[in-house]
Amino acid sequence: MNPICCPHCGGLSAYYIRPDGQFQCPECGDLLDHRDIDLDGTDVWGVSGNGILSIVTDPAHSLDCLMEAIEEFITADECPNAEYARLHSMRSVTESLAEYTDARRLGIKRPEFGYTEESVRTAANAGAEMVLGEINLGEPEEDAINLVVNAAITILINPGASFAEMVEENYGESADEIRSWWGWSK
Ligand SMILES: [Zn+2]
Repeated sequence: MNPICCPHCGGLSAYYIRPDGQFQCPECGDLLDHRDIDLDGTDVWGVSGNGILSIVTDPAHSLDCLMEAIEEFITADECPNAEYARLHSMRSVTESLAEYTDARRLGIKRPEFGYTEESVRTAANAGAEMVLGEINLGEPEEDAINLVVNAAITILINPGASFAEMVEENYGESADEIRSWWGWSK
């Protein structure tokens, strides 16, 4: 992690965060707004524990590099100089891991893999709305479609959930009460 130093007074003093969220040079008092922080492609900024504005590699990029380095290590035997390839890949593993750790210590959020719960929830609800908006269904059918949406999201979060648990969580009613909406019995 690299502190961002003030270019106006010799480049030795790092900006620190003020209570109002602006950054200031302790030497010459120059103010820096977060929108004016100059970043390279895979860099992100954060504030270290002692309030210093710092730049680190985006943890998503470090993870990509880490996985690439692991693949290199695994396939080192296919290289003309396997010993060198192994050493080189292990060095990349160590560097990427250190960069990832720096970013996480700076409070940068860890990257999301795949779809988030929020994006699945939005898609499932939008899917139900799309169908209900185009097809003229009665209330029981609409309720049944919404029941499926709620069940799918419950199972996403808790794969072992039962019908009764899903109903309890989403409707606050008993499973029998919900079944009675359609006159179903089981
Ligand atoms: Zn300065």
